[in-house]
Amino acid sequence: MTDSKTGFDGFPFYDAVVIGSGPAGLSAALAAAESGASVLLCERLRTFGLKLLASGGGKCNVSNILDPTSFMEAFGREGRFMKPALDCAYHDWLFSFLKQQNVSLKLENKFHYFPVSEQARDILNAFANAFRHFGGTMKNETEITNIIVNDGKISSVKSNDEKMTECKSVILAAGGTAWPKLGGCSKGLELAKSLGHTVNPLYPAMAPILIRNQWVRDLTGISLPDAGISFRRGRTIFQNRGELLFTHEGLSGPCAIDLAGALAETCARNDDDTELILQLDASLDSAAWRKKIDSMRNQDGRKLVRTLLSRHFPHALADAVCRLAGCYDDKICELTSSFRDRLCTLLSGVSLCAYGAGPMEKAMAMKGGIKLKEVNPATLESRLVKGLFFAGEILDLVGPCGGYNIQWALSSGRLAGLSAARMSISEN
Ligand SMILES: Cc1cc2nc3c(=O)[nH]c(=O)nc-3n(C[C@H](O)[C@H](O)[C@H](O)COP(=O)(O)OP(=O)(O)OC[C@H]3O[C@@H](n4cnc5c(N)ncnc54)[C@H](O)[C@@H]3O)c2cc1C
Repeated sequence: MTDSKTGFDGFPFYDAVVIGSGPAGLSAALAAAESGASVLLCERLRTFGLKLLASGGGKCNVSNILDPTSFMEAFGREGRFMKPALDCAYHDWLFSFLKQQNVSLKLENKFHYFPVSEQARDILNAFANAFRHFGGTMKNETEITNIIVNDGKISSVKSNDEKMTECKSVILAAGGTAWPKLGGCSKGLELAKSLGHTVNPLYPAMAPILIRNQWVRDLTGISLPDAGISFRRGRTIFQNRGELLFTHEGLSGPCAIDLAGALAETCARNDDDTELILQLDASLDSAAWRKKIDSMRNQDGRKLVRTLLSRHFPHALADAVCRLAGCYDDKICELTSSFRDRLCTLLSGVSLCAYGAGPMEKAMAMKGGIKLKEVNPATLESRLVKGLFFAGEILDLVGPCGGYNIQWALSSGRLAGLSAARMSISEN
């Protein structure tokens, strides 16, 4: 809408101040400006939307094909919190907005949406240009260091240059602590804490899983197209299936990184390592392996077990499995029936010792954050401070890899921006 006016105390005044220029902040700022609010967006870094620019390897996996119900389920038990934001703004809104801005999307692997240009910058520019078009102001290198509340209501913010800005609402879209080189920090969480909000414990998510077993680390560089991982926390079983990569610290690839947050939390809660079961080929259970092994035995009885297994897995992995099973130098015809049973049990689920995930420096997202019970899902306004709204990764919700977190940031940003504008303008 407009440039800033002057507030009661003689400082610049905006209806809404947005903290953070990631997808959540950009979407919130645009929604509020579009609704007629005067909006200032502040980013502490020199570059706006640095993490967004790096997302999806610079191509930005902006969303995926899931319907809202399946989308929420992927965020776990708390996923229902997202419903009002997804009802307010999901695919229809996002796709038509991007189309208006001349950003076309394409589908990859029949699941992930990317801009056709494969440039994350196009997504950033679409939001930033539209925001400026509605009169919004963007300031980089401006860190908000204090949010000031009077009589339970937001009244102003203070920035690192000691300047005050008066406002009716603040949208805290300051992201999480993951990947600090791309802007991850705890500054937004600290601001929320200073206003009485609870920050649930933080863990690295969308990150490699750390494994103690040396034989796993020795397989660095090997990948499996369809592996399975599972572990338990009490009665809950966490499991995933997909491409897996062995690394010098443990396991990576989509199959592993999607479980990282839950695993890190499990290790921390138990203050101990967690047993993780690795299925080297998720399509084969123990009985299927037994059939396969018996047929190998019938056809190639005089061959070494590891030679036969290397038809199914990379050599080094076949060798490692045979070493673990204790049949490295054995021909398949030499294995007794009970030994073959044990080998099949191992092939269908090797027990590993996991000691966490991360580090946060290499995590694509953070698990944990602002306690959801303290935020009204219908508006994303704080239940503790009038005029304070939240959006994006700062809230205690994290999805797996695959366009979930950016879509959530954009949807929650939109709801927070519309709600903040409604509140601020109704009070003018
Ligand atoms: C390498 C990488 C690749 C990824 N790829 C994908 C992908 O393809 N698809 C997907 O869905 N997700 C992806 N993610 C996750 C996704 O990028 C994040 O979940 C998303 O950016 C979160 O958006 P946000 O707006 O909440 O926070 P952010 O994008 O983190 O933005 C928050 C901003 O707030 C600023 N800030 C913090 N405190 C203050 C303050 N006090 N004052 C002013 N500014 C402040 C920060 O500097 C930051 O720029 C990826 C993450 C990484 C690290």
